[in-house]
Amino acid sequence: MSNIRNIETDLEFENKIRPQELTSFSGQDKIVDNLTVFIQAAKMRDEALDHVLLHGPPGLGKTTLANIISREMGASLKMTSGPVLDKPGDLAGLLTNLEEGDILFIDEIHRLSPIVEEYLYSAMEDYKIDIMLDKGPSARSIQIELNPFTLVGATTRSGLLTSPLRARFGIQCHLEYYDSNVLSGIIRRSASILDVPIDDQAACEIAMRSRGTPRIANALLRRVRDFAMVKGKGHITLEITRYALEALNIDSRGLDQMDNKILGTIIHKFGGGPVGLGTVATAVSEDAGTIEEVYEPFLIKEGFLKRTPRGREATELAYSHLGVVRPDRQET
Ligand code: ADP
Repeated sequence: MSNIRNIETDLEFENKIRPQELTSFSGQDKIVDNLTVFIQAAKMRDEALDHVLLHGPPGLGKTTLANIISREMGASLKMTSGPVLDKPGDLAGLLTNLEEGDILFIDEIHRLSPIVEEYLYSAMEDYKIDIMLDKGPSARSIQIELNPFTLVGATTRSGLLTSPLRARFGIQCHLEYYDSNVLSGIIRRSASILDVPIDDQAACEIAMRSRGTPRIANALLRRVRDFAMVKGKGHITLEITRYALEALNIDSRGLDQMDNKILGTIIHKFGGGPVGLGTVATAVSEDAGTIEEVYEPFLIKEGFLKRTPRGREATELAYSHLGVVRPDRQET
């Protein structure tokens, strides 16, 4: 007889712990305060909220904020992403189906093709688009009025956004890495929603090793919970947390295997740098864009890596973290 198991998918887990209102969205205080005002003002005027650009590294809450904005505005949310919107027709289909006040969320908006992006300009500015009818000699364009809507764009690479597109966002929010106090609160909240007992010290330990990122904090919590169930009594203690993080190769500064591989490669293969991003990427077999968007910002913020005009350089801290003496500091 087979057991019917309750398999918790990533999506179910996400939906359970994702904050639903601005008041349960921890940290990013300035963004939350400002959005609260802009949302309230738009509701008082009975208008669509101005277009919002959310930028910052992955896992900091851009999608969560888009969901919260739609909920707080009492509007529905349509989600898509830059690379999916291949042709202007794809975008036109989405835009013409929006109801008044709806939120259109475009993730990875820096990856829109130039022609789709141009199409978006008049939609954002005047709520109008031009559609081509027919082909050849009988081709003509007609203008379609759209319902007033809010575009929420998210990007990890705001530097790649063109200035005309950026200028059309009335509200621009830069999400910062979270400090470990806030992350520790997020971990305790997630643990309580999941009904897992966790000691404060254990929550702090996970927070300190989560690269300032709620998505990583929640993912580590989930893994530590597994260790607590199998190796302990289900209760997440500091001891089981340290054991689990060790087993997961997350070091005391929260650096994972790839972080350490990047630093080790720069130090051991390229004399500490400077070395170009492409060369590092090839040496560690990782995509250059992923290194630039995911790994580098944290390594730079924590002082392990420097970005110089001649390339990437490992810092003093990187050497001491890996226990390597810098060649120029070696005693002769
Ligand atoms: P992004 O879109 O920036 O990559 P997400 O919005 O998908 O990030 O957030 C990743 C995860 O982190 C989600 O599970 C979400 O619940 C959680 N999260 C993000 N920001 C917060 C926050 N401020 N408070 C609580 N949980 C958060």
